[in-house]
Amino acid sequence: MSSACKLMHVRLMESLLAKDNPLLLPLNKERTLYDGFLTVQEQDFRMRIQLPPDRQIKQAKYKLHCSWQLKHLLRGYEHIVKQRLQQSADLVSFILELKTVLELGLKRSSECIAIPPPQYYSQLISEMETLGWDMLLFIDTEFQTLKLKAEDSSGRQHILTIKFKSKHPAEAPECSADLPIPLAITWTPQSTLQQLHKQFMLVLESLTEFWDVLDEIDNQTWILEPEKPSRCDTMRRIAIGNNVSIKVELDPRHPKMLPECCLLGAEHVVTPLRNKLNSNMHLWNPNSSVLHNLRDVLKIKFPSPATHEKSDFSVECGICYSYRLEAAIPDQVCNDPRCGQPFHQACLYEWLRALPSSRQSFNIVFGECPYCSKPITVKVAAQKC
Ligand SMILES: [Zn+2]
Ligand SMILES: [Zn+2]
Repeated sequence: MSSACKLMHVRLMESLLAKDNPLLLPLNKERTLYDGFLTVQEQDFRMRIQLPPDRQIKQAKYKLHCSWQLKHLLRGYEHIVKQRLQQSADLVSFILELKTVLELGLKRSSECIAIPPPQYYSQLISEMETLGWDMLLFIDTEFQTLKLKAEDSSGRQHILTIKFKSKHPAEAPECSADLPIPLAITWTPQSTLQQLHKQFMLVLESLTEFWDVLDEIDNQTWILEPEKPSRCDTMRRIAIGNNVSIKVELDPRHPKMLPECCLLGAEHVVTPLRNKLNSNMHLWNPNSSVLHNLRDVLKIKFPSPATHEKSDFSVECGICYSYRLEAAIPDQVCNDPRCGQPFHQACLYEWLRALPSSRQSFNIVFGECPYCSKPITVKVAAQKC
């Protein structure tokens, strides 16, 4: 580059720089030192940039003044700024890159939760001291999410998760737990952790009977569904025998009342049980447990872990040869007493649909059992009782 050409290049760059950043000015005749302000989203940032005598942008040193909050938000972006500095052809493009990074930081700060004042932490610590540190299972690094433990009167362990909002304490924290009912918490800006915990304990006490009923069922029978019941689950599918089960849906507020029942299995086994359920319903005693009532009403003994293996009841599907198909278990059973082969609803539907001998009427497909060729039907949609 000739000296005249070089000079023109510098002049051109100067005018571009001045046009975009009128507050950033050269401090020396050599134009290697700039000082002033960069304006991003109507905010001015103090900036000083020192170029080497040959004005090589790669070796430039810069210093940017911004609030510590913004610096905090730009953390992790320093390497990007450094990289851009290395790659920039001239000062104009570097300044442009720097402004993009600042813009990003400002965008993040508007989205980010405001950093709470120091008294937030001291308040939290004093509240934890009152409650007892042994109650704390987890706290995140931002001190925004806490997990507190709680034990109900039957010795079951529960966890209360508390997420403080950005407008804490004016805004109520988000409280959640593994419960069969919504967790309603009363909150005022003066509420403490201890009060939250106390409210949670009261909710747990109101559900003690519900969990007692379910624990008895879970301990003394084979549960086919859910695979691993959690404290919020109100449904149990209990094994009665080979390919026969009962699905009960409990009301968490009235756990000892007659639950919604649905018998599943081959017709010749289910029909007599259904008749017993209907004719003995009046024997249901709300003072007795659900398991005892089910035994009395159905006149059966449930197979238990003490007497049976679970594999006795988890017979695989006759089409896909697996037990679980996503969440589904084989609950479609051939009604022929000599066959009784179980299938997944989805497997049986696909099988029958593919056969030219099958026919469909409304949402029911009629066809033949893949095992014994006796008539079998399947509903198109997921079967519900
Ligand atoms: Zn299957
Ligand atoms: Zn069959």
